[in-house]
Amino acid sequence: MKSLVIERKDLKNNIKAIKKIANINEPDDNGNKVKIIAVVKGNGYGLGLVEYTKFLIDNGIDFIAVSTVEEAIKLRENGIKEKILILSSTAIKKEIELLIENNIILTIGSKEAGQAVDEVAQKLNKTVKVHLKIDTGFGRYGFVYNKRDEMIESIKSWKNIKIEGTFSHFSIAFYKKNEYTKKQFDRFIDCIEVLKMNEIETGMLHICNSSAFIKFPSQHLNAVRVGSAFLGRLAIPNKVGLKKIGYLKSNVAEIKTLPKGYNIGYSNSYKTKKETKVAIIPCGYADGYNVKVDRDMFRPIDKLRYIVRDIKDSIKKQYLYVEVNDQKCKVLGRVGMYNVVIDITGKDIKINDEVKLNVNPIYVDSSIRREYR
Ligand SMILES: *Cc1c(COP(=O)(O)O)cnc(C)c1O
Repeated sequence: MKSLVIERKDLKNNIKAIKKIANINEPDDNGNKVKIIAVVKGNGYGLGLVEYTKFLIDNGIDFIAVSTVEEAIKLRENGIKEKILILSSTAIKKEIELLIENNIILTIGSKEAGQAVDEVAQKLNKTVKVHLKIDTGFGRYGFVYNKRDEMIESIKSWKNIKIEGTFSHFSIAFYKKNEYTKKQFDRFIDCIEVLKMNEIETGMLHICNSSAFIKFPSQHLNAVRVGSAFLGRLAIPNKVGLKKIGYLKSNVAEIKTLPKGYNIGYSNSYKTKKETKVAIIPCGYADGYNVKVDRDMFRPIDKLRYIVRDIKDSIKKQYLYVEVNDQKCKVLGRVGMYNVVIDITGKDIKINDEVKLNVNPIYVDSSIRREYR
């Protein structure tokens, strides 16, 4: 049976490396160090929400961030007592109530959300802890950075809300050119100054995601929100010794020998060049193997980039490979929903031998067992 394997020692290595980077800067005037907020959205980036979060906590992480109400509640239901911040802002009262009951730190990124949270807080007779989200040019959650009067007026009207943090999110920190990221950072700092001038408590400040965390130590502020770096799967070159976390483990299900000139797989795109011994692996794209995000950028320049990438790929990558008993084996024909056929001609490979398939854990169906080794 297949599972997504997570090597404990590699994950520990990454946590250690991340702590080291967070400690690059001297403590601030009050002796505070940079806080690591571990982002565990998307089923813990595929590593299994609860197991992964517990692993992080066991290794010294004490501040968790999620994206959805469901994730936040699931963590509490599984006995996680640490601080949990929900990164998205909601104005839906039922959700707000549930989050407050579960002692989740809310994000407020709009007048409507602020009003709804305050009303629920008053009804429950509680003071609710929140982080303020400022949109510095991402266009998702957050008070738009240059509509300051609206933001200040809104905040001043709150009665039962305590701001414990203020944050923003970068849209292009992974990019080689840094102008836009710098612009977003400056917009954020300007906003903080305006809030302070208006005697609004901002709490802890944070803006860095993984890429910015690694590229810009000077922007760490009071905390950093790190997700993909824990998996060593970054959109920037990995020069800080992070290990890639997660591979799909399966077993050889069937072995046979096919004659020369024989078709393998859908679309008849592969024919054996000689007599070929093949093994069949019961894994495929439904498990997240060979899955990519859809091409969702539509500017002419992006389309051109896709074409260039395709051409480079077609020169570079002739085949996909999987590993069986530490031997690289070619994938023959197309990847099926639950089948991969590999070439094992001349190799000592038997039924039930373990197979390693390279996958990004985020695409591995959550029904597949996560195996921490
Ligand atoms: C996902 C997310 C992060 C973490 O991003 P990584 O690039 O995976 O580190 C940080 N902040 C917000 C608001 C996010 O949604």
